[in-house]
Amino acid sequence: MEKLSNTMYSPSRIGTFSDCRLKYKYEYIDKLESDLETIEAFRGGIIHQVLEEFYKLVKGGLVKNIDWVIKEYTELWSKNYNERIKIVKKQFTAEDYFNKGKQCLLDYYEKYKPFNQAKVVATEEQLLFAIKYNETTCQFRGILDRLDWNDKTNMFEIHDYKVNNKLITQGEADNDWQLGLYSIALKNKWPDADKVKLIWHSLLFNKEVVSSRTPVQAEELQKNVIGLIKEIESCEDFYPEKSPLCDWCDFQKICPLWRHPKKMEDIPVNEYKNDDGVKLVEKYAALEGTKNELKKTIYEIEEEQAKIKEVVIEYAEKEKISVIDGSEAQIKIDIKNELKAPTKSEDPSNWVQLRDFLIKEGRYQDVSTVNSNMLSYKLRGKDWPADFIEKIKKFLKREVTKTIKLIKK
Ligand code: SF4
Repeated sequence: MEKLSNTMYSPSRIGTFSDCRLKYKYEYIDKLESDLETIEAFRGGIIHQVLEEFYKLVKGGLVKNIDWVIKEYTELWSKNYNERIKIVKKQFTAEDYFNKGKQCLLDYYEKYKPFNQAKVVATEEQLLFAIKYNETTCQFRGILDRLDWNDKTNMFEIHDYKVNNKLITQGEADNDWQLGLYSIALKNKWPDADKVKLIWHSLLFNKEVVSSRTPVQAEELQKNVIGLIKEIESCEDFYPEKSPLCDWCDFQKICPLWRHPKKMEDIPVNEYKNDDGVKLVEKYAALEGTKNELKKTIYEIEEEQAKIKEVVIEYAEKEKISVIDGSEAQIKIDIKNELKAPTKSEDPSNWVQLRDFLIKEGRYQDVSTVNSNMLSYKLRGKDWPADFIEKIKKFLKREVTKTIKLIKK
């Protein structure tokens, strides 16, 4: 059986790679420390702790009232809150976040009291398990928010508390591999657990979303996750991926996409203007402005020339001549009657028919070429399987390309 590295994977580790490869490198390969704590993560952590303590007591037969829940939440918040916690969305205060979290707990309590829907098996339970596909296996670690056994439905229930601002959709729940993998781990632990119910509690919306996995889906999931881990382990290009998540990333100060802009945020205006980088950008931007003006002029000239061209052709046809004399130049007129292929943008259906015909006749290779841009796009995308990408790599040459692009703030 092929074993990947001894690395212990976790949902957050894989999630980080999918979000941004450079962040993955900083965090898991270079092992750089991150001391950033955002208010969203802080509030989520406190709510998880409160529900953990609450359900531990429920497990032992003691259901605390809502006042106890709110008191726990308030005490944990005040004990742990500090000024270093980052609030990215400046329109909200820490108090707004606190109040919203409190409302989540009030709504949750009201919805599930008297908390006898199922029997609590574990809270914040660590799962260590292996996932397998064909001859490949890899080690995984995950933490379940809560595991219940429902003796009415004879089903395990995996509960996941979500305290983020996005309501999980049914499609996302049906495709979520984190809880999907946990259900596989549970079935390994309790082979008689035929069905595992997966429940996401979107606490900010007081809504639960439910899903499950069939054996075929579980197999497919393991195949996809193993494919992704192979991609991680063979990755050579840990490029940064700019996204809204950058605002919650503690590596902005070293990330090549953010290091200079972040440094410039804090310096006085006169120093800002004297910064070598700023000067270069301003010079380049000024030239770009001039270039755009010239392009506009060239476009106007070309339009004028196009009009003259029509008149020139008309004149040549009328006079039956193919060269027109001028004081410093001549114009030569070529009128050809040739066959032209349709273009994909102007006549897509005819273009497709022609392409299919060439393929059918075995002539397509004669006219098509390998398009490097398209290939790079496909390699960066997520729609080609990892084993295919591995095979195609032997045809490719690693080359450093240097381009610049002016981006308006
Ligand atoms: S700041 Fe953004 S691009 Fe840079 S490492 Fe973090 S997530 Fe990636």
